[in-house]
Amino acid sequence: MTKAPLIAGLELGGTKCICILARGPDDIVAERRISTTTPDETLSAIEATFAEWGEFAALGIASFGPISLDRQAADYGFITATPKPGWRQTDIARRLGKRFGRPTGFHTDVTGAALGEGRWGAARGLGDFAYVTVGTGVGVGMIAHGAPVDGMTHAELGHIRPVRRDGDDWPGHCSFHGACVEGLISGPAIAARLGRPAPDLAPEDPAWDEVVHTLAQLLHTLTLTGVPRRIVVGGGVMTGNQHLFPRLRDALGESLAGYIETPELADLDNYVVPAALGANAGPLGAIVLGMMALADT
Ligand code: ZN
Repeated sequence: MTKAPLIAGLELGGTKCICILARGPDDIVAERRISTTTPDETLSAIEATFAEWGEFAALGIASFGPISLDRQAADYGFITATPKPGWRQTDIARRLGKRFGRPTGFHTDVTGAALGEGRWGAARGLGDFAYVTVGTGVGVGMIAHGAPVDGMTHAELGHIRPVRRDGDDWPGHCSFHGACVEGLISGPAIAARLGRPAPDLAPEDPAWDEVVHTLAQLLHTLTLTGVPRRIVVGGGVMTGNQHLFPRLRDALGESLAGYIETPELADLDNYVVPAALGANAGPLGAIVLGMMALADT
């Protein structure tokens, strides 16, 4: 059997970047962490790393967003409206694609993580699924027929407005929408409301009620719009908090109220599942984006 081609991957994050050279999770040739500082300093360090690694067949980039995905647009491959200082309207994919002259895939970090879970993790073998991350932000990667669901841009389902719990009028933490899902249950939102980080909360802490109440609404909407065959849930708020999964499944089942009758929804234990790739989902997602770019050539 011939070996899979070697792919260079980049997970571009708000505080750190991971460069990876791999054929898959069992064949990682090199990995390097680079701090995210200014765009020029960071991208130069990334370019030097890939140049040092030499031969690879394609490049995949999984970036924090929002990003421009419209190949016809002048700003295709750019990070666009980020509040991160210095990074607004920064060219990522065109610059790296031109520098190395290889097929270059580009998508959000959450979509990359979704593709990684689809290829090697908790959604393996499925063409239609979604990945939800609840961490620094709340993001959703929707995959249909094996490809990301894109339109004018990528999905931003983490910013829908949920119905609030009775009597809860906390204004929320999203700088755009206040009490959207991300503004209520991202790690920073939980910490801002409680004055302590979410992973420190005991399983019986009543603060989890808010996470379950709000996240179940996101899963309800996601089930009805993306119609995924499975929803994989990961991110820093979820990791280590497996006790949330039975509660989430119960809340989702109650919310959907039997309206859709499919084998998948009859088995909620296998419908809402924890992520399997952990911290490697991002870099491995970048590898999948590179593989897809190579397959497109
Ligand atoms: Zn928002």
